[in-house]
Amino acid sequence: MIPAISCVSALLTLGQGDGKSPMPSPWVEPGYMKLVWIQSPNCGPRPEGVVVDTIVIHSTVIPTLEATTRAFQRESSQVSAHYTIGKDGSIVQNVSTFDRAWHAGVSKDVRGKENLNHFSVGIELVNLNDGKDPYPAAQMDALKAIIVVLKRRFPIVQIASHEYIAQPYGRKSDPTNFPWDEFKQFGLPLYFGKPK
Ligand SMILES: [Zn+2]
Repeated sequence: MIPAISCVSALLTLGQGDGKSPMPSPWVEPGYMKLVWIQSPNCGPRPEGVVVDTIVIHSTVIPTLEATTRAFQRESSQVSAHYTIGKDGSIVQNVSTFDRAWHAGVSKDVRGKENLNHFSVGIELVNLNDGKDPYPAAQMDALKAIIVVLKRRFPIVQIASHEYIAQPYGRKSDPTNFPWDEFKQFGLPLYFGKPK
């Protein structure tokens, strides 16, 4: 059983920040399977008529959910994702899935389609990406719940690692040592490692 996201109660914390950013102050992790939306300025419209059909999985390298959220708040970072998932299964939404987040960079998928930011949803997992840092069950629960939601909303045809789609190959290695076997249950092609 994949647990359901226990909704958007944490949205109520929006607007109670320090006046300089939309982040709640003091920062509190949303909690297992709870979602808070903290909008990143690093986003834009998707190209007209684009079909969102791909999920890209990342590791943050940044060690905490708070620090990742703050990085996505900084315009100078020029990066964002649609969702970031903490190790305890806390979820921060950074960008609407109907908009284009900036997570993939120069990229190409197995079909030869370039610029995955146009047509993918980017999900970041808080993980050092050192090959040793684990992906706890709570974090995987939240990721699976998001995939269930995305499959209902969009005609998803593939899940890919950032490593697989980043151009040139070797530019990215995330998510390292990710438990791909657990994601076969979705019946979607999984692309990770080195493209053939
Ligand atoms: Zn990445």
